[in-house]
Amino acid sequence: MASRKPATRPSVRHPSHNHPLRGCKAQVEDEIICSGCDIELDGAAFKCTMSDCDYFLHMSCFELPREIRHKSHPDHPLVLLFSPPYESGGFGCNACTQDGSGYVYHCSICKYDVHVGCVSMPETMKHDEHAHTLTLLYSPPLQEGRIFNCDVCHETIPRSFWLYYCQKCDWGTHLHSCAVEEEEKPKRGGREGGESSGRGSANSELAAMLKAQREMEKMQIALDFEMQRAKIEKKSRKHMLKMI
Ligand SMILES: [Zn+2]
Ligand SMILES: [Zn+2]
Ligand SMILES: [Zn+2]
Ligand SMILES: [Zn+2]
Ligand SMILES: [Zn+2]
Ligand SMILES: [Zn+2]
Repeated sequence: MASRKPATRPSVRHPSHNHPLRGCKAQVEDEIICSGCDIELDGAAFKCTMSDCDYFLHMSCFELPREIRHKSHPDHPLVLLFSPPYESGGFGCNACTQDGSGYVYHCSICKYDVHVGCVSMPETMKHDEHAHTLTLLYSPPLQEGRIFNCDVCHETIPRSFWLYYCQKCDWGTHLHSCAVEEEEKPKRGGREGGESSGRGSANSELAAMLKAQREMEKMQIALDFEMQRAKIEKKSRKHMLKMI
């Protein structure tokens, strides 16, 4: 019975999409973006069965609950919407500060919006840049008149946005890794970024010049050495001739 089953996997329906979907396995190299969370697919996923439709979903996004209670917003439930409820077609995430255009957990009373990816961030995590376990906070620990700057990228984390924090060291960083982003967008660093990159290229030019100089010195030394050896050989030959 099992052997007569068709090779194609059965299709499934999801309320976010009009066409049936089918399970697939996505590779990072394919660079496919999930139509739900806007994050790249890696591993088990669903794809639209229509050949001309680019609708993809993470397995985890397929299974998201339609309504949740979240510690960041204790007064009201958050409802999963498959597209932002605003005319602009986008939303600003109240967790990570970034914009979104796909799935969103939404409170209609407060207009509170969180990416589905941000909602599932763990309450504690280890960070490469810090020795202690960090705790997820839903707002920077602000004392009177103090601005909280990320200890990795040094950009300000505004009030009421999420961060990972170590209380012992008063060390905190953005919800998502930020070091890479800063490298890719030197413009965001403004004056500082420009200066340092300018200095960087000047440094590398100088280094190249010094290297070339050293190469030439080496060649000169080698040449001198050759000439001296030739002289010595000549001398010693003369000397040997005398000896004979
Ligand atoms: Zn997804
Ligand atoms: Zn489709
Ligand atoms: Zn977010
Ligand atoms: Zn609310
Ligand atoms: Zn940061
Ligand atoms: Zn610490």
